[in-house]
Amino acid sequence: MEFRCPYCQAPIYSRKNKICGVCEKPLPEELLFSDQQVAELKKQMDAEEKRTKEFEQQIDDFGDHSKHVM
Ligand SMILES: [Zn+2]
Repeated sequence: MEFRCPYCQAPIYSRKNKICGVCEKPLPEELLFSDQQVAELKKQMDAEEKRTKEFEQQIDDFGDHSKHVM
């Protein structure tokens, strides 16, 4: 997938670039990653967060039961 500068339509060769190499305008961050990559990253972060929460929950459950008054 190819990325283009939204200002001058120049192809962006490196997504590490924060500015367009042609018109030198700052590139929007969301353009530096594809939607798919962003979605993938979000999914990973969500999964990571969920795992962490589940892990904390488990520690909670295994830990002090007196804290759990249902
Ligand atoms: Zn440009």
